[in-house]
Amino acid sequence: MKRFLAIATMLFWLCACAPTVGGQDAKSASSVAAATAEPAAANATEPEGGEGETVAEASEPPAAKPEPAVLELPPGPIAADDALRLLKAGNERYASGDAKRAHQGADRRADTAKNGQHPFATVLGCSDSRVPVEMLFDQGVGDLFVVRTAGNVAGPDELATIEYGVGHLGTPVVLVLGHTGCGAVTAAVENAHVHGNLPALINQIRPAVAKAKAWTPTAGSGDILSKAIKANVWLVMENIIRKSSEVRDAVKDGRVLLIGGIYNLTTGKVEWLGQHPEQGRILASASVVHKPKPKPKPKPKPKPKAAKVEAKAGGKPPEAVKNAKQAQAPANPDAVNPGGHSEGDGSLLGPGLDVAPAKKKHK
Ligand SMILES: [Zn+2]
Repeated sequence: MKRFLAIATMLFWLCACAPTVGGQDAKSASSVAAATAEPAAANATEPEGGEGETVAEASEPPAAKPEPAVLELPPGPIAADDALRLLKAGNERYASGDAKRAHQGADRRADTAKNGQHPFATVLGCSDSRVPVEMLFDQGVGDLFVVRTAGNVAGPDELATIEYGVGHLGTPVVLVLGHTGCGAVTAAVENAHVHGNLPALINQIRPAVAKAKAWTPTAGSGDILSKAIKANVWLVMENIIRKSSEVRDAVKDGRVLLIGGIYNLTTGKVEWLGQHPEQGRILASASVVHKPKPKPKPKPKPKPKAAKVEAKAGGKPPEAVKNAKQAQAPANPDAVNPGGHSEGDGSLLGPGLDVAPAKKKHK
């Protein structure tokens, strides 16, 4: 070793150009070292490690701030783990002020317009203007398939959109993203008076509030809110599994990673919740719950017996038939509406009953 150092020293003094070359390498190596220190930089495409070990001992400081690692998508299908890494890396860059803002130029627009979209994740987030999904994951045009509703709830339209992301676009990750200080969840926690179509939306969040209160019966409202936000993410994930057989099958087959997260409005960081803690149980029970429903009983045809009797007799109709016609309803409502649905009066009358009153008018 001593001999090696002596030879190296000699060579150093003999070769005046060595510091210049070494300086350039040192910058690269320091970039590698800085990049690999970040959890997101595992795939950074910088010089090989062998050279880095040698030049890392050079005393020159790095000349420039290391370039934040940007994970580019490899061509072709992307694995769920890689997609998740992209999300995590992008959020790290955004939260630390190192957002790269890639894929936002005219070339990206032209490329995606011509060649179609190939997003790597479906994200269901809240419509809150402080939670701009592409921005907080430092992604650009064509990177994310985003669904947003107040409270990140998933009704039929949202479920269908998620299914589009999974089934047609092939995103390997579905992320349900709640956030701190969510107004929709707050409304549910505080039982706020809402109007218009909002009650139906807030009602979807109420089970999460109930769960949060059950977790910590003595907690204050602030604590309940944070727990309800988390419970709401779990609830929405569960609903997606239960109500979308397409996503459920994809999760079950390992084609899709369904995960949750909570975005912090203050720090800009996402708290990653991972998969639903009871995903296995939900998958199993959902498969049972969503067996084909039994066919509804066929509606029995109306029996215009009384009317026929009246027509044959040619005289006054029986009193019961008379009353029934006046009320524009069948004598036996159960016979017309066996399922108990209320869809209006006349629309459910069978053709036989429509005919009979017309005859009577001509009498
Ligand atoms: Zn919100």
